[in-house]
Amino acid sequence: MSHEISFLEQVDRMYAKAASFTDHPAGLLSQIQICNSVYHMEFPLVRDDGSIEVIKAWRAEHSQHKLPVKGGIRYAPTVNEDEVMALATLMTYKCAIVDVPFGGAKGGVQIDRKDFSESEIERITRRYTFELIRKNFIGPGVDVPAPDYGTGPQEMAWILDTYTTLTNDSLDALACVTGKPVGQGGVRGRTEATGQGTFYGIREACSIAEDMEKLGLKQGLEGKTIILQGLGNVGFHAGKFLQEGGALIVAIAEYEGAIRNPSGLDVEAVLTHRRETGSILGFPGATDIANSAEALELPCDILVPAALEGQISMLNVDRIQAKIIGEAANGPVTADADARLLERGVLILPDVYLNAGGVTVSYFEWLRNLSHVRFGRMSKRFERRSNARIIEAMSEASGVVIPPEKLEEIAAGAEELDIVNSGLEETMVMAYHEIRDLARKHGTDLRTAAFISAIDKVAISYTNMGIFP
Ligand code: NAD
Repeated sequence: MSHEISFLEQVDRMYAKAASFTDHPAGLLSQIQICNSVYHMEFPLVRDDGSIEVIKAWRAEHSQHKLPVKGGIRYAPTVNEDEVMALATLMTYKCAIVDVPFGGAKGGVQIDRKDFSESEIERITRRYTFELIRKNFIGPGVDVPAPDYGTGPQEMAWILDTYTTLTNDSLDALACVTGKPVGQGGVRGRTEATGQGTFYGIREACSIAEDMEKLGLKQGLEGKTIILQGLGNVGFHAGKFLQEGGALIVAIAEYEGAIRNPSGLDVEAVLTHRRETGSILGFPGATDIANSAEALELPCDILVPAALEGQISMLNVDRIQAKIIGEAANGPVTADADARLLERGVLILPDVYLNAGGVTVSYFEWLRNLSHVRFGRMSKRFERRSNARIIEAMSEASGVVIPPEKLEEIAAGAEELDIVNSGLEETMVMAYHEIRDLARKHGTDLRTAAFISAIDKVAISYTNMGIFP
């Protein structure tokens, strides 16, 4: 990883560029930029062998202009205070861009998962949650964590269990964290949401003939070549949906190395191979690349970094051949590299927009938890009956007989997953056009436009509160 300047400074630099396009007062602009509160904790972990290790962790709440604040929890050895603050800042802007009514937050625990047993991870997660409760940094209306790098549904279930055990009024407790397993208050579609949202965003960008023509590419996703970095939650699902959408995954980079096949890799088969052998290397039909980072420099139409920040920096930017970069990870392109790529006419789909599918579906999960009812439960049968009546009436009038199984298929009401996916697709498509229109209006790039959109929306909240005239 390489940072020309710190991650937070990079985000602030992107913010300053966007702020210069607005005419908000300087005080308001500073308030929107700064991170409101950071809680740094250190606590002991009794390891399985009886030794004691001190664990460093943080939770940053960037902006309370809307409550609760929201953001994932990252388990990684590289996590630090600057990173957590930068990621919390991006969360505020991300929520505003996709009209999710939350402020931004982020949590981090400085550990390498691979060095700890499952039961040690459980103890760390529960102790971290306990610390958050003690300082009022968690709660359905206060701060609602979610998964991020190195965490998933299991950690969210432990957080929920710790929260409900230690708090008295549990009516809305399910909404204290999102990304939970389905069956413990999780919503169908949350696990794949960030990757699926990434797919919707890339597909939308590729559907605009005029923009593709400028890049010398054909309209549509069909046949586009893609390089994927990171085969975790976001990378795997993004790759799977992009492949199903007609794109060709020509290389996959993981932390142990990379594999390449110009005729296309099957993402699901690669994941199975990695689970079985412990590595993506040695995948049948593919060429191994020992130095994983080199895979990013291979020829392709779209590069999708889905691992960590700072992956495309001044060290490798001039060798990147992709015409489109889809930022599934947070902060994968440094500010200097971003400027260089823009000079070269590369289309960058920015993280604050492209990976917002996760928080969008987390919002749906939070709503489901507060309403205490599964989406579609009340309306599904009603919808199916009224659809069937319309189809039967049309069939009678036209004399066309529809076979019963076909009628059943057409008339079926929406399941929870259909509703979640439709909300996600609508959000990603609408937001893309909003930021693209802004970019054209101001003659700037999509990231700057996305930041302008966020600044304007957060500014309205502060002004409505009467804090800034
Ligand atoms: P994850 O832990 O599920 O997967 C990350 C993968 O990246 C792992 O398989 C890891 O081995 C791999 N990796 C690490 N370093 C690498 C390197 N140098 N080269 C290649 N691969 C490498 O994490 P995730 O949840 O998929 O998150 C990935 C990124 O997406 C992060 O930047 C995160 O902040 C962002 N993000 C995640 C979510 C979410 O819902 N999980 C939402 C928004 C943004």
